[in-house]
Amino acid sequence: MVRTFAAEQIDALLVTSRANIRYLTGFSGTAALVVATCADLLLVTDFRYDEQARAESGAVARIEVESASVWDRMFRELATLGSLGTIGYEAHALTVRDAERLAHAGKAWRWKPAGELVERLRVRKGPEEIAAIRHAALLAGEALTSTLGSVRVGMSELEITGMLEGHLRRLGSEAHPFSTIVASGPRTALPHARSSARTIAAGEWLLLDFGAQVEGYCADITRTVVVGARADDRQRAIYELVQGAQLKARTAVRAGMLGADADALAREPIEARGFGSAFGHSLGHGLGLEVHEAPRLSKTNAEPLPENAVVTIEPGVYLPGQGGVRIEDDVHLSSSGPVLLSDGRTELLELV
Ligand code: ZN
Ligand code: ZN
Repeated sequence: MVRTFAAEQIDALLVTSRANIRYLTGFSGTAALVVATCADLLLVTDFRYDEQARAESGAVARIEVESASVWDRMFRELATLGSLGTIGYEAHALTVRDAERLAHAGKAWRWKPAGELVERLRVRKGPEEIAAIRHAALLAGEALTSTLGSVRVGMSELEITGMLEGHLRRLGSEAHPFSTIVASGPRTALPHARSSARTIAAGEWLLLDFGAQVEGYCADITRTVVVGARADDRQRAIYELVQGAQLKARTAVRAGMLGADADALAREPIEARGFGSAFGHSLGHGLGLEVHEAPRLSKTNAEPLPENAVVTIEPGVYLPGQGGVRIEDDVHLSSSGPVLLSDGRTELLELV
């Protein structure tokens, strides 16, 4: 942090992003402000989190508990942190209303919008972070297996969502890091469908995109299966195209490779078969305390993928009116190559 502060020409950083607060202090509550200086870490929270903040963060941060305004308290405590001239703030994680507080109540300091400084630290995962993501990913795979054993023709997407979320919780997922997607039939062509009351018919695709969370760290998995019948030739051809592209990308992706080059690993075989325009999103994204974080595996990312990042590999082919296939696994970009954290079981399942 010290070098970062020097490079950014700030004396301290006001941290308002919940994921960044958790990363720096371990605090998992919903209301806190953190100030990091070269020497101190201050966490101001409200009375609801008194006990929790001390338990989670007491070893690394000074905890101040406030029953009125955490902002007013933060400004008062700033004065105790030595002579601070310029304080950075997270422009990407601050409401306009809170930015106005800096202009009004924080006049004693110069406030400078800082880039995603803590996010940059979060990209490279340590062994404990990787272990938590692996735990979440394997748990998610088990929840899927339990769910698919009960899926039947005539069930609604929401009913299947409920079963899957129940299994995720039973197996220890702390939260659903995003709204579970269960889409059936032609709705599988919507890359970000919401589960609906639609019921699934025999021979249709069922796409499930879901997450699990362990110690705050997220996994993100997608599987696409056929329900109530064998896949027809068209379905099988599309599935095998996506499956092949996914396998190629998840075994060839490397730390140091440009994000755009990683994206191309899966995009090239899909384009070569004439389905390039049916793969309208990027190949993947970083995973960590947030379900979408750096780095991006996309056509527009000209930066190298950092070592020890954890990323998703999720190509898809979507044919409007017909349906879509997406397959998503989670991969650790270790110094010796990609390490699969999810179960990687992508053989075509036909639930008959
Ligand atoms: Zn996903
Ligand atoms: Zn994803």
